[in-house]
Amino acid sequence: MFAQNFPLSRVTSLGVGGPADYFARPTSTDELIAALRFAEERGLEITVLGYGTNVLVRSGGIRGLVIQLADNFAHVSVDKAIITASAGCMFGSVSKLAAYHSLSGLEFAVGIPGGIGGALFMNAGAYDGEIGPLVRRVDFVTASGTGTWDADEFTFSYRFSRAQQEKVVVTSVTLELQPSNQREILAKMEDLQARRRARQPLEFPSAGSTFKRPAGHYVGPMIEQAGLKGLRIGGAEVSTKHAGFIINRGNATSDDFLELIAYIQREIKQRFDVELEPEIRILGCDQ
Ligand SMILES: Cc1cc2nc3c(=O)[nH]c(=O)nc-3n(C[C@H](O)[C@H](O)[C@H](O)COP(=O)(O)OP(=O)(O)OC[C@H]3O[C@@H](n4cnc5c(N)ncnc54)[C@H](O)[C@@H]3O)c2cc1C
Repeated sequence: MFAQNFPLSRVTSLGVGGPADYFARPTSTDELIAALRFAEERGLEITVLGYGTNVLVRSGGIRGLVIQLADNFAHVSVDKAIITASAGCMFGSVSKLAAYHSLSGLEFAVGIPGGIGGALFMNAGAYDGEIGPLVRRVDFVTASGTGTWDADEFTFSYRFSRAQQEKVVVTSVTLELQPSNQREILAKMEDLQARRRARQPLEFPSAGSTFKRPAGHYVGPMIEQAGLKGLRIGGAEVSTKHAGFIINRGNATSDDFLELIAYIQREIKQRFDVELEPEIRILGCDQ
């Protein structure tokens, strides 16, 4: 069940990052709990990955056990307006499934890559929508077994969820949507997809928006006004299409991304007195 020295560049959208000491892709909750126990018995740190579309793994990789819940852990069911999806279900596919069942609320998620576990962890959102308000139940596991958060036990805010505070592996997310007109749902999704295609550098590897939006500011325009659009360090480049994205021009390393992020933060602080906080999760160690 465990691969050793597994190159995480293979499972992250940026395509960079060193190896995981141990790497597992469990296909059931039982296998997942067994993996967590394996780690606990050996004192190994645990890191969970979905599709790796919102992470930057450092060049030294991740010590301990990395567990990936992606297409190996993807079951979904629909019951009237309730959708229950395992962590590895792709968020965008769940949004399309909702549309198929004439359920509204997830239109914003079309085009967000990654899994619903990662979306829950990040409280992913776009175009005035967020997963948080739709969540009715979260199932998770720890080494001691399974657990559940019900609707009154969540905390969500901008790109923040309770899952970030507690060492849980989210296994499944239950959402409540609104029955609605399918044609309107599909039209909205098409419009949002078109906006993404027009504004985002989808032709290059990225991890989405690099920084969180600071109150009262827009990141892309600030970076552009600071003259940083197109700036490149090694193979990492501030996208010329959307300055809020940093893309891999093909041969970037984790260090290129880290240097570019730090450079942008310094420049924006100096010029606008604004602290930019990374939205992408920076994981692992330098060596
Ligand atoms: C082109 C592009 C566009 C994007 N657009 C958007 C957007 O519009 N809005 C937005 O919010 N995001 C966006 N993103 C970022 C990303 O797609 C989302 O945050 C996505 O929900 C992350 O899912 P993932 O499976 O890839 O998570 P990963 O990147 O694998 O993980 C993200 C974090 O969640 C944790 N995690 C993942 N799965 C679990 C789990 N099962 N249990 C516990 N913790 C877990 C990881 O440890 C990590 O800290 C974009 C990314 C790209 C590349």
